[in-house]
Amino acid sequence: MTQRIAVLGATGSIGDSTLAILAAQPQHYEVYALSGHHRLDKLFTLCQQFLPKRVSVPLTAVDDFANRLSMAGLNIDVVGGEEGLVDIAKDSQTDTVVAAIVGAAGLPSTLAAARAGKRILLANKEALVMAGQMMIDAVKANNATLLPLDSEHNAIFQCLPLAIQQDNTQIHQKDHGVRKLWLTASGGPFLQQSFEQMQQASVAEAVKHPNWSMGQKISVDSATMMNKGLELIEACHLFNLPEDKINVVIHPQSIIHSMVEYSDGSFLAQLGSPDMKTPIAHALSYPKRMDSGSQPLDLYALSGLEFIEPDLQKFACLRLARQAMQAGTHATIVLNAANEIAVAAFLNGQIRLTDIADINEQALTNTQVPLLNDSADIEDILAIDKITRHHTDRLIKSLT
Ligand code: NAD
Ligand code: MG
Repeated sequence: MTQRIAVLGATGSIGDSTLAILAAQPQHYEVYALSGHHRLDKLFTLCQQFLPKRVSVPLTAVDDFANRLSMAGLNIDVVGGEEGLVDIAKDSQTDTVVAAIVGAAGLPSTLAAARAGKRILLANKEALVMAGQMMIDAVKANNATLLPLDSEHNAIFQCLPLAIQQDNTQIHQKDHGVRKLWLTASGGPFLQQSFEQMQQASVAEAVKHPNWSMGQKISVDSATMMNKGLELIEACHLFNLPEDKINVVIHPQSIIHSMVEYSDGSFLAQLGSPDMKTPIAHALSYPKRMDSGSQPLDLYALSGLEFIEPDLQKFACLRLARQAMQAGTHATIVLNAANEIAVAAFLNGQIRLTDIADINEQALTNTQVPLLNDSADIEDILAIDKITRHHTDRLIKSLT
């Protein structure tokens, strides 16, 4: 049977890798729906290529895009905005949702997919950072399946015992001898540079990742190591572990994508070329395996693999992520929102790269937000997100 797939965030980097795999396997996968927010020309070309039944664009672009499609003789249902994304995510015709929107904008549709019991291939780590417990509860209550695409989490998933893979929401890692998880990090483009050099970094230097080719926001997050901080929070929720059971280690070669440490002293690792097509293919075909089209790893060509403890002064964002995880969900929402605003300000040339951590820290300390209780819903989460964005905007204005 073919799996009907909705690729939300189809015009981005994860979207590209996903669609490359789907294009190579039309007998197994049908591209049922696509979404894009910027680069609508690219989305139009994807519609011509994949002929989805539905497409979501920004609200303001719905009429133009629908006209353009019909002029080209394409009969595709065009929906718009957050509502359009949610509608596609829970559409009864959708089997699998690839959650590949960047940032908080991905939360409502990812949560809707969980509530509709879909198979979710999760790249949008921000959904777990903002609403981890809510997401996991929704997955459990609605019999959804959550498979991580983030290469580190996908690696850990592959190294965990089958019983946990099949139900990571119910089972305690301890009962299966899991002692710790090890998230590997490349260290980003400034690993070998001083803090002062990092302070002077241009946008072009900051988004030039040594091993991976990714969207701008996650590339900046990799340079500050906020990405690893977000991934730490993501891992706590995905694998039901407190933050002190998850270590981060810098591994500049990005060959080992992460590890599970067991109580008997065994470390299980997943290795591969740094290519997102591998974790995406894994999750698409799970529990089977398929060709991903990625370059096989050439072990003979590898020289030493290094492991380095991160410097938490230089990469303060990583420390802030642990702090926020300990404080609770309201704090991880604040950290995520402040970081999105700070990264955008850096990309706009308003602040320096190293200001991002300072702004995040100030937002975490000073933003007054309501605490979340057990009956909190997505509106409460989005309210904290909004307050923080407003506060952080003002903070940045006062600095510039
Ligand atoms: P990207 O910037 O290349 O693409 C983002 C996608 O989201 C685009 O399709 C864009 O149109 C859409 N989008 C942006 N703003 C939107 C909004 N307000 N509303 C609706 N759609 C919007 O980003 P990416 O690198 O593909 O990353 C996507 C997600 O995957 C992020 O959460 C990132 O952390 C995660 N991720 C990416 C990689 C990678 O290698 N690129 C690896 C692991 C995890
Ligand atoms: Mg990652």
